[in-house]
Amino acid sequence: MADRKPLVAITGASSGIGEAVARAFSAAGHPLLLMARRLDRLEALGLPDAVLKKVDVRDRDALAAAVREAEDAYGPVDMMFANAGVARLGDIAAQPPEDWDEMIDINTKGVMNSVHAVMNGMIARKHGTLVMMSSIAGRKVYPDHTVYCGTKFFVHAVSESLREYLAPHDVRVIVVSPGIIDTEVLDGVKDETTLANYRANKAAIGGGISADIVAELIIDAYDKPQRAIVQEIVITPTRQKY
Ligand code: NDP
Repeated sequence: MADRKPLVAITGASSGIGEAVARAFSAAGHPLLLMARRLDRLEALGLPDAVLKKVDVRDRDALAAAVREAEDAYGPVDMMFANAGVARLGDIAAQPPEDWDEMIDINTKGVMNSVHAVMNGMIARKHGTLVMMSSIAGRKVYPDHTVYCGTKFFVHAVSESLREYLAPHDVRVIVVSPGIIDTEVLDGVKDETTLANYRANKAAIGGGISADIVAELIIDAYDKPQRAIVQEIVITPTRQKY
């Protein structure tokens, strides 16, 4: 179909911000490649024109194979939302280093695997958008966020470098830096004290905000003409001062 909207790929589409972005781009008429480990959650979305793949972003080959399969069906990926991430927040001295490994592998290497699967195609076409999921914790540090912040600072640094590298190729790199958004992200926090402190802080500012607000901003940024780029989206609850 000549007038079909381009394919959008999303990692971590099974819940939270990824799910909200999937729904928004589907409603706007885009075919989708949705990836996550919980395939049942992707299926439950019931979105049309969607290739659903059980992909762990740590598996570079599986991610690239999913992109190839979706591109065979719907044409090139024009936007990759490298969104999948985990927040194993906790006291750094007490935390098992395996939690550090998991955050580093998913939040940094997983993001690079997502970029790798589509970047050269975008360069060849001189068209495309990488949407990189960082956090407000990629701009400043917070208690018990030590390695999580490290992974998100990584995303900021790589995105800035990629943005400069890809600019002459007309490929956009957009960093997304949310504050407290209501999702399932806290399910990954095992440290009871950290969790209690986070929840108390969240309650004190009146709670988080909806993932739909983040999705609206991403679709608005994507829909700008290709020669215009929203370099970063920073969105927090109004009462979130830090
Ligand atoms: P959720 O826990 O609701 O979503 C996380 C998503 O990532 C899920 O779809 C999960 O799917 C996926 N995921 C996790 N690990 C992997 C993996 N190894 N391979 C593939 N997919 C994976 O939380 P959010 O929506 O909040 O998180 C999305 C992103 O937003 C994360 O990068 C997070 O750091 C970031 N963020 C969140 C904020 C918030 O306040 N909520 C604030 C700032 C940034 P599955 O388990 O099915 O694989």
